[in-house]
Amino acid sequence: MNCSLCSRRSVVELNYYGQRLCRKHFNGLFERRVRKTIRTSRMFHSTDRIVVGLSGGKDSAVMLHILNDLFGKNPRMELIPVTIDEGIEAVKGRLKQTKALCKMIGLEQRVYSLKDAVGFTVDEAMGRMKDGAGACTYCGVLRRRVLNDVARGLSADKVAIGHNLDDEIQSAFMNFVRGDLDRIARLGPIVGVMRNERLVSRVKPLRDVLESEVLLYAKLNDIPFSSFKCPYAGDSFRTTVKRILNELDVRHPGSKFQMLQSTDQLVSLMKERVLAKGDTIRSCLVCGEPTSQEKCKTCIILEKVRV
Ligand code: SF4
Ligand SMILES: [Zn+2]
Ligand SMILES: [Zn+2]
Repeated sequence: MNCSLCSRRSVVELNYYGQRLCRKHFNGLFERRVRKTIRTSRMFHSTDRIVVGLSGGKDSAVMLHILNDLFGKNPRMELIPVTIDEGIEAVKGRLKQTKALCKMIGLEQRVYSLKDAVGFTVDEAMGRMKDGAGACTYCGVLRRRVLNDVARGLSADKVAIGHNLDDEIQSAFMNFVRGDLDRIARLGPIVGVMRNERLVSRVKPLRDVLESEVLLYAKLNDIPFSSFKCPYAGDSFRTTVKRILNELDVRHPGSKFQMLQSTDQLVSLMKERVLAKGDTIRSCLVCGEPTSQEKCKTCIILEKVRV
């Protein structure tokens, strides 16, 4: 079947769009969407030093590739690919792909180990949690902390993370199910509601593109990425939500985009609500880092794991 816009062979059928697209037109659509997210949210400034969280998966690989296309030649901007090695033996091989990508685009990769930062790997921590929380609960929190510490140490202005549209609506749905509506306020292309000098601003250039399209873009453009599956991902709440939302979108094409629109409306309402409540960012009693509670999540996790 041919592309709906030219005579080339199509590589994808976009049901929600009513079109089949060839490689060139798909790439164009994908890149336009990412540029629009960056432009409309005023995500970056022309002198930004940007830490790019590079896990080795398709999302962060595509994000780095596109940011390098957009800003790599700007001498006033800097991209620093940073990989946090969580110490999960089964996915260790992904470091090869991150290295290959950085070599391909000519950027120096920096790798930091979770064990060096907090004293244990995710593999070692498994089973140590007294309350039996899944690995993702603490892996995500600790990785975020280490990435922020690294970015701050590098005097970065932004931390770019590879969250795609699917991740964004999954987060919104999970918060909705948990009844934690205030957390929805933290979603959007620029993470968070209030600024704090110790928190490097986190941004999501891919949050308006579907996960399936990120994968296709990576394959069509020969971007090195790892398909290693994390062994701890299977039992997470997010995995269940992902399955439900995928099924919904198969039965009702376009549902994911509609959910994103609803999420965006909720985000601005919830931001107003959170600001009106007058909540302030506090300092953790243990480590002094910014938190909304007495103790930050990192310190709570460290207490549970370091038995
Ligand atoms: S799936 Fe969970 S445990 Fe595995 S790397 Fe991701 S957050 Fe960490
Ligand atoms: Zn075409
Ligand atoms: Zn703390």
